[in-house]
Amino acid sequence: MDKIYLDNAATTPLDEAVISEMIAAMRSFGNPSSTHSFGQDAKILIENVRRNIAGYLNVSPSEIVFTSCGTESNNMIIKSCVYHLGVERIITSPLEHKCVAETIMEMKSRNGVEVIFLRPDKNGDLNLNELETALKASGKKTLVSLMHANNEIGNILDIKKAALICKENGALYHSDTVQSMAHYPLDFSEIPVDFASCSAHKFHGPKGSGFAFIRKSSGLKSLITGGPQERSLRAGTENVAGIVGLGKAMDICIHNMERYSSHIQQVKEYAVNKISAAVPGIKFNGRSAEKESLYTVLSLLLPFNDPLIGLKLDMKGIAVSQGSACSSGASKPSMVMMMILDDEEMKKTTPLRISFSHLTTIQEIDSLTAALKEIAENQAIEKINV
Ligand code: PLP
Repeated sequence: MDKIYLDNAATTPLDEAVISEMIAAMRSFGNPSSTHSFGQDAKILIENVRRNIAGYLNVSPSEIVFTSCGTESNNMIIKSCVYHLGVERIITSPLEHKCVAETIMEMKSRNGVEVIFLRPDKNGDLNLNELETALKASGKKTLVSLMHANNEIGNILDIKKAALICKENGALYHSDTVQSMAHYPLDFSEIPVDFASCSAHKFHGPKGSGFAFIRKSSGLKSLITGGPQERSLRAGTENVAGIVGLGKAMDICIHNMERYSSHIQQVKEYAVNKISAAVPGIKFNGRSAEKESLYTVLSLLLPFNDPLIGLKLDMKGIAVSQGSACSSGASKPSMVMMMILDDEEMKKTTPLRISFSHLTTIQEIDSLTAALKEIAENQAIEKINV
């Protein structure tokens, strides 16, 4: 049985060219902090990647800080804003990834930070007028943390507008860009975010490698103390091969962005039409079936309740997600679903996320559709027999 991977928002397969560059980088074993030639060879590898990434984002190389992942980048940014920059209030939304949501709640319980949630509507959209109103309501030093592209329902926030509102009102702005980085062109000379995050494994790079964009003027400091690596913003000997892998994956995705995105968009449109025709009563969550959504994600709402759907598809060789990777397997529904579905819908339906890459084929969507159709028909038969 050929297996089908439709969980690319959880992680993506490594590009072979990325693996080759990482293997070569592993042979450059010097410590990048060493002044001898072994160290400097490794240092050059890192600095080349930093320069390229800065070029894509139109920022200064010194504003790119390599970390171990998106989670670390988000933790570092939010916690340092509270510990070092005197942030007393955070405005966010219930749509954020757990690594942002949990960190903010820790800042509330441990550090007494006031937390304000902007409520999404039934489509999963936020009203940025509410952000403006909340910012004007208090003079407290504020961090706004609102993600760019939602990992569960694919809604995209106008981060330029959000950043401008924050700037006009003297607030710092952090955007979790883990799902959009390397999938969309991002020019941070035009979009005045203060902080953003990236994770290489979301675009065919290695796990354990990411970066934080930290605007120079923000004054953010390190959470991990020790040596002066990463301009003293993140102590610890760098993951040279991981950084090289991140850089190569980003190069490939940026250079092929148009081709990859138009292929994925076509596959997604095909999936929307095909699955809609095969499974009567199916709906799509948030904006995910619309053209303006994150093109890699399609969030289905199956018209029956089946907590075992992920397992059933897996037994047919098809990998999808019933939540984001970190919360799938948990029996509790995700916060995002609780926000956009009412109690009755939650009882009678099953959300399912399928997520694509440039490697996804129409034939794979056909196989998924056939599997969903069979499961839906079996559900209907079981219902009659009850
Ligand atoms: N933010 C978003 C939106 C994500 O989707 C994820 C991963 O699922 C993360 C952050 C965490 O990234 P990492 O797996 O690199 O820690």
